[in-house]
Amino acid sequence: MADELPPFSGEYPTCPKCSNKGARTEYKSPAEPSSGRMLGPGIERLERRCSRCDFTWDEALNPPKEK
Ligand SMILES: [Zn+2]
Repeated sequence: MADELPPFSGEYPTCPKCSNKGARTEYKSPAEPSSGRMLGPGIERLERRCSRCDFTWDEALNPPKEK
């Protein structure tokens, strides 16, 4: 079972750690492990990286895949 990822939060999300608005977005394939937290065997995701503090978190693809 894949983790439920939060939905894509747009071009200028608020960083949960420093409240900065703005983060880079990078596609991660299932083969690439998360640098932020362990998600187990890979899932497709968008990795967000805060432009201020470099905190990273994962969000769902946009648009999300149909289940
Ligand atoms: Zn931040």
